[in-house]
Amino acid sequence: MKAALLFGTEYLRVEEVPEPEGEVIVEIKAATTCGTDVKMWRHGHRILPRYPCAFGHETAGVRTDTGERVLVSDSVACGTCDPCRAGRSQICRAPTWVLGGFAERIGAPEAALHTIPGGLPAPAAAMAEPLAAAVHAVERGSEATDVGVLGGGPMGLMLTSLLIAQGRNVTVADPHPERREQAAELGAHASARLTAQHDLVFEAVGRPEAWRAAAAAAAPGAVVVLVGGCPSGTEITLPTGPLHYEELELRGSFHHSPDDVDRALAVLEADDALWRSLLGPTIPLEQLPAALAAPTGGPAKKWVVDPSA
Ligand SMILES: [Zn+2]
Ligand SMILES: [Zn+2]
Repeated sequence: MKAALLFGTEYLRVEEVPEPEGEVIVEIKAATTCGTDVKMWRHGHRILPRYPCAFGHETAGVRTDTGERVLVSDSVACGTCDPCRAGRSQICRAPTWVLGGFAERIGAPEAALHTIPGGLPAPAAAMAEPLAAAVHAVERGSEATDVGVLGGGPMGLMLTSLLIAQGRNVTVADPHPERREQAAELGAHASARLTAQHDLVFEAVGRPEAWRAAAAAAAPGAVVVLVGGCPSGTEITLPTGPLHYEELELRGSFHHSPDDVDRALAVLEADDALWRSLLGPTIPLEQLPAALAAPTGGPAKKWVVDPSA
């Protein structure tokens, strides 16, 4: 079968590879791209195995054994480490990563599979993986009505959509006018920067200056949820005043649980506005290198790799 393999940084080839192994083989119908794929291609990533390796972690397809349509989650938690036993499988210390969505087929543990509800199209179902991380991030926040979201990329817009559905008043900050327009279509206020202070702030950029800006946009007593991952080893400095005198709370948010994935699938099935807004062009595997190298900016879109295209 054909698969996209990483051979090193910025070195990706589509090759003929042996058929996958695993509890269940899934024929891939759609694998969406995201910022993490770009990071993996550009710099490598801590969850990648040794080169050459398959990647792609937002994957929807059809089980070859039962014909059922499934989302292939990108991880299975160990179930036995301290965080798993405390009900926080998002931060499992020994997860099994299930990567390889940019291929014709993938082998996956049964535990990674989630039934795609109703008529939800495969590219939309694939977005349940990142949306599950947004579901988790919203849970990490507070009940505050007044919310700022820093970053209008796919993750920022996913957070926005979930928060708007809960009746919150959301302001999205992004320098790209196209992304501000997408945020406005989802029902948010949009501006180039967060100028007011908010009771709840989500950081969805993943750069140290954005982490600092998110903390700076927090009102006294606010909660700041840090969703975007910075390059490994990054350190930031923050003014201690608000942390102490204003009881500012900074909370990390990482990944998702199986329940978050099922909730994300249900959200996508109930309302098509979010996934239609993020849906980019469908491309064959061979165009993946060019897609990952494409300049970022402009509207927030996810490419859809269809290996049969
Ligand atoms: Zn992703
Ligand atoms: Zn665990």
